[in-house]
Amino acid sequence: MDTDDEGTGRSPEGLDPRSLSPSALEREVERLGGRAEHAARLLAHVVKLGRVTPDGLARMPRRVVDAVPWPLPRLRLVEKRVSSVYPFHKLAYETGDGRILESVLIPVTQGRFSVCVSSQVGCRRGCLVCATARMPRPRDLSAWEIVDQIVQGVAVAPGPVRAVVFLGMGEPLDNYDEVMAAAEIASHPAVGAAQAKAITIGTVGVVPAMRRFAGERRRFRLAVSLGSADPERRAHLMPVSRLWPLPELADAVRAVHAAQGERQMIAMTMLGGYNTGEDEVRALARWLTDVPYRLSLIDVAPGPHHPFRPPTKAESDVFIEAFRRVGMPFTRRLSGGADIDAACGMLAGKLALSG
Ligand code: SF4
Repeated sequence: MDTDDEGTGRSPEGLDPRSLSPSALEREVERLGGRAEHAARLLAHVVKLGRVTPDGLARMPRRVVDAVPWPLPRLRLVEKRVSSVYPFHKLAYETGDGRILESVLIPVTQGRFSVCVSSQVGCRRGCLVCATARMPRPRDLSAWEIVDQIVQGVAVAPGPVRAVVFLGMGEPLDNYDEVMAAAEIASHPAVGAAQAKAITIGTVGVVPAMRRFAGERRRFRLAVSLGSADPERRAHLMPVSRLWPLPELADAVRAVHAAQGERQMIAMTMLGGYNTGEDEVRALARWLTDVPYRLSLIDVAPGPHHPFRPPTKAESDVFIEAFRRVGMPFTRRLSGGADIDAACGMLAGKLALSG
């Protein structure tokens, strides 16, 4: 997708191992007289160890070392907030062009964390429930700006990080090449931030990019944010559905399934009294016919930018009972981090100090 700003997230000219897919890095290193193992060592030095200078990078061909624009740029961590309810951490970074972007450390099991990264500053998709959609001047992030969120998130996390989720600011598939390069880097054996299957890339249903993802046989998981299986409700919540309506989206999910052989993650945000009726469950059951799925439900986080609220206990009971009646399995995800504006849909690049 085009950006308003011109290349402001670019690394200086040169060979930044965070800006190329590992296979492209390998080709560049070989062109400079190095070997595949040198590319792997460079990746480990910069991404696994988080180094931005060549100090400690021994026995590497001079031409390769000199091709890297040391010191490599970093995002500036400007704020870290920790939820008082569950140990969600929100990390705010300033980019070289003065924009604020956010990552979230999500507590999972046994003291482990997932790092949730942003792929854009702002977003053009305009989903009704999302604070990111209200940010001015959206722009894509460069691969290095995405990778640096992972590097710094791993360094700050109070426990081991085993998974990376692209569910922060932005529609990842609108920034396809940079997101895929970052995911390939994170899952490279020399880096070991997460296995490919532990990397989840969210989308609101950008069908052409989903088809490309399937055609390229990417190993990462996709998580499709549905909003509603009712065409009118989905169009109200997510303008993207006017471009690619529900039947096309179902076809694209099936294409990814055919390429990967895995059930596909369908995520629904529960909006009390809006998409929590039995009719929604019936629409979902129809839409998911022939779609091999894993359904994940999460309560909407309240916010001043949208009119919705989480479902009441009575509404949840009706919804859950309707699922049981039609025999649809689902999981319910914890909606955490709302007290630090870190829950799904709340990232807006606002620092606590500035309000
Ligand atoms: S939910 Fe995702 S795609 Fe929709 S506006 Fe927010 S960041 Fe963009």
